[in-house]
Amino acid sequence: MPPSAVTRFAPSPTGLLHLGHVYSALFAAAAAGDGRFLLRIEDIDPGRCRADFEAAILEDLDWLGLTWDTPVRRQSEHLADYAAALDRLDAMGMLYPCFCTRKEIKAEIAAAGRAPHGPDGPLYPGTCRRLDAAERRDRLAAGADHALRLDVNRATRKTGRLNWHDRARGRQEATPHLFGDVVLARKEVRASYHLAATLDDHLQEVTLVTRGADLFEASHLHRLLQALLGLNTPDYHHHRLVTGPDGKRLAKRDGATTLRAMRNAGNGPSAIRRLLRTH
Ligand code: GLU
Repeated sequence: MPPSAVTRFAPSPTGLLHLGHVYSALFAAAAAGDGRFLLRIEDIDPGRCRADFEAAILEDLDWLGLTWDTPVRRQSEHLADYAAALDRLDAMGMLYPCFCTRKEIKAEIAAAGRAPHGPDGPLYPGTCRRLDAAERRDRLAAGADHALRLDVNRATRKTGRLNWHDRARGRQEATPHLFGDVVLARKEVRASYHLAATLDDHLQEVTLVTRGADLFEASHLHRLLQALLGLNTPDYHHHRLVTGPDGKRLAKRDGATTLRAMRNAGNGPSAIRRLLRTH
């Protein structure tokens, strides 16, 4: 029996669960041991998230035989928490408004002739970090659309070196620079995955974050946000990714491997669990 922990499964309701999600959900539930298994719906992206997908996810998890502590935390209902965290970071001088469009960022990177890449794509070249104070003020006063970015150099100067621990890979020195000046509040929603997930893990008192190895690097950045905001640092366990017949990791576009499709083909919950043990 694993030691007790508070774990969570945090799907985004942008599609149906596929086998990769199912593996992740079962992994998190098992890792809780005698502790608590929580569910969080990461639905801050109104353009991509749908209530019918959320309902289907809950129904699939129930069908698998999982039970979770209630209430389910739905991120779209907690935007005030993310706004308060942004205000604190802003008051510390850690954020700056970014007025760039995607197109402008692309053009700037192309003109520079080099594009350092991070886990989420090319790094932001820092254009709006260099705006002078008057121009920044004028654009804000004119109501220009803007995101909020973290000034990662300032942030790491403030926190110094940081560590975190992964149960599969051991002690890690945090390298949040991997992400450059990451967006913490998007233009359309005053939040982002990195901010909301880190804050919620603290607010939900999660002690062990389990998620796929594709999010391993994100934990470097989450560790930095924890230090800036005075949040708890949980233990981590990034698990293997479920791969398809081609050896590539499953993605939502692989409709055939949705749990729904497998249920419709006559597989029961124990067949699914067995399959994931060998997949
Ligand atoms: N919502 C994320 C996803 O569906 C998971 C985030 C996490 O576990 O931290 O990939």
